[in-house]
Amino acid sequence: MDAHALAELVTANRILAREGIVDAFGHVSIRHPGQADRYCLSRARAPECIEGADIMEFALDGTPIGPRGRKPYAERYIHGAIYEARPDVRAVVHTHSPGIIPFGVTAVPLRPLMHMCASMGTEVPIWDSRTAFGDTNLLVTSAAMGRDLAAALGQRPVALMRGHGAVVAGASLREVVFNAIYLELNANLQQRAATLGEIRFLSDGEVRAILATRSSFTFERAWEYWCQRAGQPYDERPMEGPLSKC
Ligand SMILES: [Zn+2]
Repeated sequence: MDAHALAELVTANRILAREGIVDAFGHVSIRHPGQADRYCLSRARAPECIEGADIMEFALDGTPIGPRGRKPYAERYIHGAIYEARPDVRAVVHTHSPGIIPFGVTAVPLRPLMHMCASMGTEVPIWDSRTAFGDTNLLVTSAAMGRDLAAALGQRPVALMRGHGAVVAGASLREVVFNAIYLELNANLQQRAATLGEIRFLSDGEVRAILATRSSFTFERAWEYWCQRAGQPYDERPMEGPLSKC
């Protein structure tokens, strides 16, 4: 894995921690830039503390490649299963961010109500681990659970996980970090708006129009801002070139 991609993944971890999307738990991965059948993810460590030497490589089934004694996240299966099911996905965030939790445990659907949050899509599915796996500790600790979650996600950018959190999948690291941050914002705004009265959410057409006109500059502008807040260097070079064949 090249130094640039490694540094970008460290920065993504620090940004998500700084913005309150992950705390001691939660993680972010990228598909390996040179090998599409691998992904890169930190060892089991709080994202705020992660350094380059913590980043490990995994096969899509969660097997560590050259672990050198580093302990992987128990929930790494989330990432491999999504990369396996979705060739278009190059980065994945798994979060327990608090604002989204109420929408995973009630009948109130999480829906976009602000233009910056349109990237969550108009339908956010809820994956319930209990449906297929019964009473568990709710953690995604096997490839089978990861694949079940990936199936619930389908081709969408976001899925909630009942009593647990969410996954955000996308075409670039900047995009998934952006979407994870604005997902939490939307959840908090929706809860506030609901106390005032009936909410007029974004329509399907508005969501389509927003996404059709959103350029990579939007992600870049936000990334630079979040780098500054996280005390991380901002690198303008895009990490994601064409997906390589493995
Ligand atoms: Zn989790």
